[in-house]
Amino acid sequence: MSFNSLGLSPALLKAINKKGYDQPSPIQEKAIPVILERKDVLASAQTGTGKTAGFTLPMLQILSQGQHLRHRPVRALVLTPTRELAAQVFSNVREYGEFLDLRAAVIFGGVSQIPQVKQIRRGVDILVAKPGRLLDLVNQNVLSLAKVEILVLDEADRMLDMGFLRDIERIMKLLPSRRQNLLFSATFSKDIKKLANGILHHPAQIEATPENTTVEIINQKVYRVAKAKKTSLIINLIIDDNWKQVLVFTRTKHGANKLCKKMVAAGITAAAIHGNKSQGARTKALAGFKNNSIRVLVATDIAARGLDIPLLPHVVNFELPNIPEDYIHRIGRTGRAGASGEAISLVCGEEIDYLRDIEKLVGLKISSEVLEGFEPDPNEPTTPKKQQQRSRKPTNSNFHRGRNNRSNNRRQKRNNNRRSDNRQN
Ligand code: AMP
Repeated sequence: MSFNSLGLSPALLKAINKKGYDQPSPIQEKAIPVILERKDVLASAQTGTGKTAGFTLPMLQILSQGQHLRHRPVRALVLTPTRELAAQVFSNVREYGEFLDLRAAVIFGGVSQIPQVKQIRRGVDILVAKPGRLLDLVNQNVLSLAKVEILVLDEADRMLDMGFLRDIERIMKLLPSRRQNLLFSATFSKDIKKLANGILHHPAQIEATPENTTVEIINQKVYRVAKAKKTSLIINLIIDDNWKQVLVFTRTKHGANKLCKKMVAAGITAAAIHGNKSQGARTKALAGFKNNSIRVLVATDIAARGLDIPLLPHVVNFELPNIPEDYIHRIGRTGRAGASGEAISLVCGEEIDYLRDIEKLVGLKISSEVLEGFEPDPNEPTTPKKQQQRSRKPTNSNFHRGRNNRSNNRRQKRNNNRRSDNRQN
């Protein structure tokens, strides 16, 4: 299928041509015509599927064909969980909208609001925003959302993980009730389904990749290794195999900094990206990684969410995530757009349970190897510390539900881990 048959205007086809895309990705093929019909959409799509163009292109077409009001009120609102994702969506909006007479702005916290306010006062058709700063500006009467025609919730699962539910609810109350709603999410928990039910009206359901399935072209491998030898193993792999661009995940901000320092000491150019880094430092690290002046980017899950790094050859899980779905998010950054990629996980004794949970979720046994000189330590505990603590003292909620209910315990475990992860990131 070509872009020509999707019903997009010549101005948008020109911009797509300029980007060099030959054909629409599966999510674009499905989402674009449905959005152009002005239907609500519930889309299951991970980063790397081309989802951003999937909603941006039809949104731009609808706005360009709609009625232009002289003072340009916000007619499309895109909410994102992170600053990086907001910046990426904004840059996509600008690129695809290059040949249209539409104005866009991006707003997020952590930077001065003055330039954002100036831009909004001049009038914007499309606003890409993180929920917190958006509400700040609405409360200061800088902006009104009363004319919004299209609402996009991008990476809605991550927005809930990051505690934005209340903000989203507040924002919904500021929007007109007649509008088109598009919700994109990589995973579909009960909470996401509840949010979607409250916002969407008879949505068309679209799936880019089957829910919770790992992209098949990614070559996944596990190295079993002693915890104390992980750093020297990863440094060896990078140097010996001459990896040029590696994204490494750690579970904590502290872990990311520590690993980054050790890499630099070993002569590998590296930068860490996490919630404690300033926006400037994050942008600089990401730019350096993209232009190959930085070889290794060490990231925590939330900081890495939504990073637009096409064709990434190597992703390494220095530590496995304790939320199995995060494994899918992480490795989804390799093997994009048809290119093959490699996802390597360094697994020590206390992560074996996490590995089992991940294998259950992706539905395959990931091949496991031991490298000479980096053997696992047989004396390491094989149960995660948190689980040991939990089994000593059941929580009240588990107690009321019945202590032998394994699925409830598992859900509780995930919630506990998710909460502690959010604090760490
Ligand atoms: P996304 O999932 O929106 O983050 O997009 C992932 C990457 O795919 C981005 O680098 C896009 O520029 C790229 N992309 C989007 N649509 C296409 C397409 N139809 N053909 C090739 N690459 C694309």
